[in-house]
Amino acid sequence: MSRAEPQFDELYREVILDHYRRPRNAGSLAAPTHQAEGANPLCGDEIELDVSIEGDVICEMAFRGQGCSISQSSASMMTERVCGGTVEEAHRVMGLFEAQLVESAEPDPALGDLEALHGVAKFPVRVKCALLCWKVLREALQTNDNEATATPKGG
Ligand code: ZN
Repeated sequence: MSRAEPQFDELYREVILDHYRRPRNAGSLAAPTHQAEGANPLCGDEIELDVSIEGDVICEMAFRGQGCSISQSSASMMTERVCGGTVEEAHRVMGLFEAQLVESAEPDPALGDLEALHGVAKFPVRVKCALLCWKVLREALQTNDNEATATPKGG
């Protein structure tokens, strides 16, 4: 076994850096129905997520964040992947993504660009970075409309 750090495949690194440099769905929503935020103190990653759900469909998502390329690109890919689908589908993709990272499962084609992060499974410290936005999404989906809209926006 080589002692060298495993390297990301060049192609996957490109996908990750593209989402990091040009995050999809960055910003905030005017009237989110669900919101949550989270941090990964080990790395200094932060994610705030706005979600707008109508019926059982995730119509809109937007996130603000800072931190490493893994945490931010994961958030960008996540919003792109689950937006427009049902809440149930979001939970399904979440399960596939976690299996890919935590159990080193074979990437599922349903993951789309998120498959690019499968190499992170080789870096246990980085797994938390990749999963941060998903933890935030899970939390956001658990809040109800009243909680989200009743939260005062302070400065
Ligand atoms: Zn990180």
